[in-house]
Amino acid sequence: MARILVIEDEADIRQVLEYNLRQAGHDVTGVERGNAGLALARERPPDLVLLDLMLPDMAGLDVCRAMKADARLRHVAVIMLTAKGSEIDRIVGLELGADDYVTKPFSVREVLLRVQAVLRRSPAAGEPESSEPVVFGRLRIDHTAHRTWVDDQEVSLTALEMRLLWTLYQRRGRVQSRGTLLDDVWDADPENNTRTVDTHVKRLREKLGAAGDYVETVRGVGYRFAAEPGVGT
Ligand code: CA
Repeated sequence: MARILVIEDEADIRQVLEYNLRQAGHDVTGVERGNAGLALARERPPDLVLLDLMLPDMAGLDVCRAMKADARLRHVAVIMLTAKGSEIDRIVGLELGADDYVTKPFSVREVLLRVQAVLRRSPAAGEPESSEPVVFGRLRIDHTAHRTWVDDQEVSLTALEMRLLWTLYQRRGRVQSRGTLLDDVWDADPENNTRTVDTHVKRLREKLGAAGDYVETVRGVGYRFAAEPGVGT
């Protein structure tokens, strides 16, 4: 159970989110304005904020910026609710430190999956790192032994491909920008650029064959490992 703040001015959307998040066992508060949301968050910091980017009193991106500038709220997870076609806002939001986004109109199931994925990442709810092989649909990864199988057929991955796959897998359900992947998989080696990421993801997908679809492209932003096998976005 997490404390979730929903900042959304469209009453019907806000109510649907509040209702379903409560059904999922969370402690939910909904507000329609950015200033009220910020004030509430400061009074009682939530674990996660669902943030509409088009609010009547201030831009959602400014709410996000204010949260990330506030030491008490910096670590609060943020999922943006964005309009179709507002790619720039999404990218700016992710660069400001938002964790993910969902595009309107969204399904409740999609929002719940994103919320779960983002909460799973937060340190308090974090899964201990296991040395056991993990199974995800058709894919099996034994990270410790550095071995990967698709449909019980072993796939030969380079050390870099393994690191890329493992990084994406551990952050499944959460979008990773090319810049983040460069920092975390390539250790920000200045020899590389975002094209490097695209090239290696392409190669990794080819090697994974039938399981390659688990690595989804998030247009204009980067990549995301599917939240669940068989759930595309
Ligand atoms: Ca709005």
